[in-house]
Amino acid sequence: MKKEDAVQKFPALPSALFLILCLALSGPVAAQTSKAAETLADSTVYVTNTGKKYHREDCGSLSRSKIALSMADATGSGYEPCNVCKPPVLVVPAVSSQAAALYQVNIAGLGSVSQADLSRMTRAEVVDHVDGDTVRVRIRNPPPGLAAVETIRMIGVDTPETVHPRREVEFFGREASEFTRQKLLGNSVSLAFDWDRRDRYGRLLAYIYGSDGDCHNAVLIREGYAHAYTAYSFQFVDEFRGLEQEARRAGRGLWGRLWLEDNQY
Ligand SMILES: [Zn+2]
Repeated sequence: MKKEDAVQKFPALPSALFLILCLALSGPVAAQTSKAAETLADSTVYVTNTGKKYHREDCGSLSRSKIALSMADATGSGYEPCNVCKPPVLVVPAVSSQAAALYQVNIAGLGSVSQADLSRMTRAEVVDHVDGDTVRVRIRNPPPGLAAVETIRMIGVDTPETVHPRREVEFFGREASEFTRQKLLGNSVSLAFDWDRRDRYGRLLAYIYGSDGDCHNAVLIREGYAHAYTAYSFQFVDEFRGLEQEARRAGRGLWGRLWLEDNQY
């Protein structure tokens, strides 16, 4: 029999099981009495083949099987302390309620900004206003990868002053800036994310949802305060292009006919 065949015929035990067997064969380790957390985590407890509890060495529940584990492994594997022998309990630090993964509209596969689930977004408070498409927020209990205070560049929009330095468009940039200030500054908002986490300036890229459930990025475009910014792809690129067309046809804000005529010559 070739070596490869032998390996196939007698597959290696899963390493975790192998480790447990080694521990069991090496004989019971004296129970640690130290209260120190690291010592406690290393101390040995016992589980059975089928039970969901862990036990002290002398517990009657271990008559059928007895597998030695460290406290850390037993707790990490989901075993709970036995009610009868009352083994020691590791106190695991509580996980922050906001430590969950960031809500990404691309992973959620959303077809429209209106389908987003506000309950899964990161909560924040708008503490400063930069311009129409950029604000600063404070995030309580920021999830991994985010800071307590972040500058947010809204995804998929560009308010006029940053891309179109022509004077007549700068005017609408100021309008957009004021619109965002009035809508968001001092308010609680919810943040959703997409493919790219940050831009080249380190600003956080996000969709900002107001307490009314509206996506501010989309509202800016729909109301004629911003262009759809499609240089980088994002989940709602088609929807945002459509909103811009709608705003142009309706002559809203930036696209207002009267205003354009006044400034044509
Ligand atoms: Zn027990």
